[in-house]
Amino acid sequence: MTNWGRGSGFWGAHPIGIMTRYGVFMFQRRKKRVCVISLDGVPGALLREAFREERLAPLRSLWQAGGAVELTSTLPPISSVAWATYSTGVGPGGHGVFGFVERNPQEMSQHILTSRDVAAPKLWEHAAQQGKRAAVVNIPLTYPADPLSGWLVAGFPAPELSRAAYPPDLASRLAQEGYLVDPDPGTAGEPPEFFSQIERALATRRRVALELLRKPWDLFHLHIMVTDRLNHFFLSDGLTDGRWREEFWAAYEAVAELVAEVVAALPPGTELVLMSDHGFAPLRWELDLNAFLRELGWLELSGEGEGPARVAPGSTAYSLTPGRIYLLMQGRERDGWIEPGRARDYLERLSEALLSLSTPEGEPAIQRVFLGRDIYRGPKAELGPDLLALPASGVELRGGWSGEGPFRPARRQGGHTLTGAFLWIRGERPRAGEVLDVPATVWALLGLPRPPEFEGKVLI
Ligand SMILES: [Zn+2]
Repeated sequence: MTNWGRGSGFWGAHPIGIMTRYGVFMFQRRKKRVCVISLDGVPGALLREAFREERLAPLRSLWQAGGAVELTSTLPPISSVAWATYSTGVGPGGHGVFGFVERNPQEMSQHILTSRDVAAPKLWEHAAQQGKRAAVVNIPLTYPADPLSGWLVAGFPAPELSRAAYPPDLASRLAQEGYLVDPDPGTAGEPPEFFSQIERALATRRRVALELLRKPWDLFHLHIMVTDRLNHFFLSDGLTDGRWREEFWAAYEAVAELVAEVVAALPPGTELVLMSDHGFAPLRWELDLNAFLRELGWLELSGEGEGPARVAPGSTAYSLTPGRIYLLMQGRERDGWIEPGRARDYLERLSEALLSLSTPEGEPAIQRVFLGRDIYRGPKAELGPDLLALPASGVELRGGWSGEGPFRPARRQGGHTLTGAFLWIRGERPRAGEVLDVPATVWALLGLPRPPEFEGKVLI
């Protein structure tokens, strides 16, 4: 690979004459383009294992033309947080996304987040400021689609197709196409329907992506969500001789073909990045941290329904999925009573109780706990949880409101992990890093000056 101008803005879009001792020669300044294809929740190890079993051939041949390293996800390691981090180049304390649902502590209410809650400029806005156009397909938490210099198809959650794309004629094109943003997870109990939705999601994604590839973009991002869905519902089947093993791998083959087709259609010289946002592991247990807090005597539920509105006055703490725990702080929560100077005591006791918690099989249930004030920095840091628990492998954390016990056998086959995601760059040997580092790395590949907001490192 050539290294012309990497990391500098010198090489422009016009022919440049260079005077040398041999005279003047001309060359066409290469237009820098970067295409990022992301496979939600795909562990690098899963791909390597599939390649060893001679699966995913189109991806395997591509894989050999670059270097792959491990990426660490965000805290917590879920798609909304990881993709808000990727989309802005700043961590959760900067963009204010800590889950799919956020709470309003004064009202003790909760709401589902949208693109409007991501409180930092997006990569495509930075690109526009530097005179570049982006085409963005299906990155989570980009709904509703806001105007941009380029084209955007929103990722999940995206309830109305008419607001899921920019410019508006692209939204009509999606409707015509019968575009499926995401398979309905409710169909996982009916696998034939689930796999047929996966097929439709990929087929419509393919047609729209290939159309957008013909637009004059500088940064192209295609996100594949179905891999996360496959892993949640059928990972164990895929890794063992499960009932839906063949269907699981057939869907992965379709993903590999889609990636290969998009790569084949890229303009010559495009820099290519493949990545995932978090790892995955088979699950054995589901742990409801609100049920755990109730057993500890720290939470009492009142009323009906779901969410912080159920937290009874006098409670000490409650949890939101996944692993986020909030104290009832004086002056912050409605009915909050814990004085700021006492919070540390409570959090230390809570950490100890969490770290000594065992699954019904006697294994540790929690791998690590973090204090929000230690891990979140930036203008939105105070929105984050007071404590974040990271589950042990095989355990999935929920903040439930059902009033049942803490542990139940996992209803899904796979759950997210902080480690195990991957970054692959064609013709490069990147260093291992974090999801937070990818935007700075993409900017280096684009040869653009790095936006000062970016918090990550360049990995090449
Ligand atoms: Zn997921």
